[in-house]
Amino acid sequence: MPVDAATFRHFIKEAIDFHGDLCRGQMIGVRMSLAALKALGIHSRRGMWGLVAFAECEGCLVDALQVVTNCRVGRGTLKVIPGGGRQVTFVDSQTGKGVRIAVRPDCCEEVNRYGRLKGWNAEDDEGQLRIFSEIEDSAFLDLDLLADGEVENLLSRHPRQQSPGCALRQDWLVPGTPPAPCRPEGGDRPLELI
Ligand SMILES: [Zn+2]
Repeated sequence: MPVDAATFRHFIKEAIDFHGDLCRGQMIGVRMSLAALKALGIHSRRGMWGLVAFAECEGCLVDALQVVTNCRVGRGTLKVIPGGGRQVTFVDSQTGKGVRIAVRPDCCEEVNRYGRLKGWNAEDDEGQLRIFSEIEDSAFLDLDLLADGEVENLLSRHPRQQSPGCALRQDWLVPGTPPAPCRPEGGDRPLELI
């Protein structure tokens, strides 16, 4: 499925701010995350409240994933599992749906091939951005929806920690303020689709 180019560019800008520079990992991470949200039927920040990402990699794409999905280590919604692979499993604990998305081994060849087809340089930033603005998900990603049992299994093996961290932090900052729990993921900000 192609992606909306303006949405892609919007999140790339945020990913550059968060990650520190533009790299192919940011482009793959933004596209992977948008593909996951679509596969899970999530269209708003509120819809992401139950989203948990299990990243079997520590590469650049994990930073872009955080920007798009708002999954965070500190919120307990991003689990980085060492494994050396390039796949992420996204689970929606609200709906029980899950999708595993892997970067295809021939991703770079496909991206380069698409660039040649269009006359865009897959080695320069603007060329790559153009390619990732319109190349099909299936050209560089493999998507597998999880069975119900798999979703429960993953969530029970990685239970969410209940931490008083936010309440404590608020106490430190404003003495006398009653502690409040942290808001659900992203509050109720709309998903800023342009
Ligand atoms: Zn990078």
